[in-house]
Amino acid sequence: MTSVFIISAPSGSGKSTLVSRLMNEVENLTFSVSYTTRRPRGAEVDGEAYHFIGRDEFEARIERKEFLEYADVFGNYYGTHQNELQIAENKGKDLVLDIDVQGAAQLKQRIPDAVTIFILAPSLEILEQRLRSRSQDSDAVISRRLADAAREIRDYRLYDYVLVNENLELAAETLKSIVRAERVKRIRVEEKIRPILATFGQALGV
Ligand code: ADP
Ligand code: 5GP
Repeated sequence: MTSVFIISAPSGSGKSTLVSRLMNEVENLTFSVSYTTRRPRGAEVDGEAYHFIGRDEFEARIERKEFLEYADVFGNYYGTHQNELQIAENKGKDLVLDIDVQGAAQLKQRIPDAVTIFILAPSLEILEQRLRSRSQDSDAVISRRLADAAREIRDYRLYDYVLVNENLELAAETLKSIVRAERVKRIRVEEKIRPILATFGQALGV
């Protein structure tokens, strides 16, 4: 059974850094590549960071009900194709999604077992420092991202876990621990322990 891990965070909280550590350091995970109508940034390659498509094509895909969830984020569409879950299931892997709070709420309704994690910078001031030190955005974009962060943070209660990214090392270890601990929840391991129990002459489900 594929477990689904949904990770959301205001821009600059350290989500990309932490998700990349998670993907590199925890076995058997696959990352969900979303569709978006926003333009590629910098060295982003189509099919890696995102599948980049036009608004008409996105809307046609909405009509055909191809998305598990989708949302309008900062004036662009972003969506998770239902194939992502199917592909993870076929590969026997768990699925990690980096999506916004609107998408997380939609997906949690469709997949109640999904594990949701919200990443937070330690303060607005530190968030601003991180956005500036990343040197990717203009002053106007940084101001908008900070205002958006204040709005996004209001939805933290929708999430199972809230991870404050203060010390990077500790936050990365904690994120990995969440995934590893969720994987051994009894409800997720019943299939795996069946053969072990059989060696003890026991069966499940009594
Ligand atoms: P996001 O993906 O949430 O927009 P990034 O992962 O790009 O954020 O991180 C924003 C900036 O903050 C980057 O320059 C990153 O190296 C830095 N950063 C991330 N986590 C920490 C941390 N715990 N302490 C200090 N700097 C951090
Ligand atoms: P960016 O343009 O900076 O890559 O992403 C902007 C926001 O869109 C981030 O909050 C990111 O989590 C969110 N996002 C990326 N892919 C998806 C998706 O498939 N669905 C939803 N709902 N949000 C997404």
